[in-house]
Amino acid sequence: MTLAGYVAVALAGGLGMYFGIGGLLEWRYYRRRADAARWKLQPTRWPSPRARRREIALGAANMTLASVASGVLAHHIATGGASSVYWDDRHGVAFSIATALVYFVATDGLLYGAHRLLHRRALFRWIHRVHHRWTSPTAFTAAAMHPLELALYQGIMIAPLFFWPIHAAGLAAVLVYHNAIALLDHSGVDLGAVVPWQPPPRFHDDHHVHFHVNYGQTLGVWDRLFGTWRRAGRVYGEHVFGGRGAALGPEAAPPPRIDYRRRRRAGAAPGAEPRDAEELG
Ligand SMILES: [Zn+2]
Ligand SMILES: [Zn+2]
Repeated sequence: MTLAGYVAVALAGGLGMYFGIGGLLEWRYYRRRADAARWKLQPTRWPSPRARRREIALGAANMTLASVASGVLAHHIATGGASSVYWDDRHGVAFSIATALVYFVATDGLLYGAHRLLHRRALFRWIHRVHHRWTSPTAFTAAAMHPLELALYQGIMIAPLFFWPIHAAGLAAVLVYHNAIALLDHSGVDLGAVVPWQPPPRFHDDHHVHFHVNYGQTLGVWDRLFGTWRRAGRVYGEHVFGGRGAALGPEAAPPPRIDYRRRRRAGAAPGAEPRDAEELG
């Protein structure tokens, strides 16, 4: 296949997932605004039509750039360019599964670290604030960010491919998984947790409501380990930096973590009229 072929396949995959999953959620949920209390995580808060247009324009532009870069890289690897990616059975199935799992966990940890770094005051103002303009996110918010931020995340996913042995199928599975979860985590839909190792969409939806907390991308373990999982009774917000919130008073022990496994129907004040969420300037 030619370079143009690889780029075309990457574009179809990247934009196909973005508009496929985003469009499906739009069709399945967002049309039913009157029923929002039944399915929406923030039933009374909606992005304005202008905010929707902006997130889709920025997200689609970013996905296009990232897909072109991925296509060029795939062509480089497939045509024998330097990399540690393989696609034959030279290492056996067990080794291939193990190295793909390590790649998944390690890149997820690095994504947590990079995201947390972007929440430091200066970097937040310069770069990451763009992604946080959307306080009631939709799947399309997943790629709506400063292009430098997306380049950083893509760099984290690509760097190991030059020294860590990984089967192309395992690599594809991890990329699709990370990407699908990012889209679902921004959906704004109360989908519940599918698997025990990752929190449900409300976890990242809360990140957009409360800003400096719940930094994890796919796995929940990093926020548990490093104390940045949202806790009951602490105050969070745009100006409360640090990832641990502000205590309301003296605490004998850290208050309990929010249990995201319990699905929430609260916040849906009965009879509350849906209104457009204010966007950050
Ligand atoms: Zn963030
Ligand atoms: Zn987000």
